[in-house]
Amino acid sequence: MAKNFTCSDVGVNCNWSASSENDEDLLNKIKEHAKSAHNFEEIPPELYEKVKKAIK
Ligand SMILES: [Zn+2]
Repeated sequence: MAKNFTCSDVGVNCNWSASSENDEDLLNKIKEHAKSAHNFEEIPPELYEKVKKAIK
């Protein structure tokens, strides 16, 4: 089963979504997106926890 993440799931007004076969790869895509689209050099720990919970 592919894993999916949508930015709006963590309360961000953004329609971006990504999917991957595994969490690690998906988290890397999310980090890239957070950096390029939301100016997060690093995802803050609280947000990172939310992101992990929002993956389905
Ligand atoms: Zn986004």
